[in-house]
Amino acid sequence: MTISRWSRAQLQDGGWIRRMFMEGERLRAEFGESTVADLSIGQPLEAPEAIVEAYAAASRERFRGRFGYMPNLGYADVRERAAEDVDFPGISVDSIAMTAGAACAITTAIRTFVDPGDDVIGVAPYFPEFRLYCETASARFVPVPTGPDLRLDLDAISGALSAHTAAVIVNSPCNPSGHVLDGGELAGLGAILEAHNSKHDRRVLLIVDEVYRRLTYAPHKRVEPFAAYEHTVLARSFSKDLGVAGERIGYLVLHPSLVSAETHRGLAQSLRALGFVNAPATAQRALLHLDSWEINAVPYVERRDIVMDRIRMEGLEAAEPQGGLYLWLRSPWPDALQLIDALAARRVLLTPGIAFGVPSHIRLCFSAPRVKLTMAMDALAELAAVAPVSA
Ligand code: PLP
Repeated sequence: MTISRWSRAQLQDGGWIRRMFMEGERLRAEFGESTVADLSIGQPLEAPEAIVEAYAAASRERFRGRFGYMPNLGYADVRERAAEDVDFPGISVDSIAMTAGAACAITTAIRTFVDPGDDVIGVAPYFPEFRLYCETASARFVPVPTGPDLRLDLDAISGALSAHTAAVIVNSPCNPSGHVLDGGELAGLGAILEAHNSKHDRRVLLIVDEVYRRLTYAPHKRVEPFAAYEHTVLARSFSKDLGVAGERIGYLVLHPSLVSAETHRGLAQSLRALGFVNAPATAQRALLHLDSWEINAVPYVERRDIVMDRIRMEGLEAAEPQGGLYLWLRSPWPDALQLIDALAARRVLLTPGIAFGVPSHIRLCFSAPRVKLTMAMDALAELAAVAPVSA
């Protein structure tokens, strides 16, 4: 055996998103790009020209130490700009750590605030990497279900809290459900965490993964989670909204109550321990070459509407995504994995809900060319209309 038992178990149990992506690569190589609709991975739309220009300008910047090591939490001027992006009193440069995307922000937060053997509660359907992030820190990921309307089930979260709970992680807009947490849900979550804390000698950390934050579609609104609960960190990223997932840039925000020299040292140590060391230099500088970090979400909304129109027309069951890149669809076949296989045979790649802890559903990523969305919806409609052939 070359790889560890843990690595081997991950390869067997999980990795559905990557597995479907690899299948897409294979199909594209064999049959050509135009015949495959790969809606399995959360690939953002192409980066707008302003972003490309910002990277070009950043790559030309020169100053002493431009290519050297930097403070682990990132360049002070970039952290300052990120602080301006957080709409909450008391946020400053000291509240920010620049990270290699949201993945690095979350793993760094877990490494810094969660001990080996602790529990981290999540809500299903959940982003599958949350479990990997926890296990890498020798923590246990404990998923609880959401309500039928995809809102937080506060009783389920309350029931899962224990003396072992170090953190709760939520994601809004949610991958895969498309749900956007509203102020009421966050206030309710804050209240149960406060009630729990009052009976224990440590405070539960709330990690809010906001990787799709700028992809929140009207009438739904972005809510700053800090107002609901103090012991909170936010994981933000430019991967999706700016279309720079490969460039690995994001940031972690500490609630003002968490800012201290000790926390800074802890975060710096975690960034080194995890091997990130610091967020990529050029990607950090590029952020300063952008006049605004806001984006035009219209191309995403248009795609969301294309798939939702077809969902309604075909009588399929899915809640309209309130944000993010994904449609979360109840499988019209009793066995979602069988449907995934039948779709793959038609060169349409979607991800089974089991990857997100909910086997009854499937996930479709709608940030794809319109023609691919039509191919996928045609295949889904065709298969939904026929009884599955039993295996
Ligand atoms: N969190 C969620 C919910 C995601 O969907 C993703 C990426 O798909 C990430 C975190 C990781 O994002 P990043 O590329 O910024 O590390």
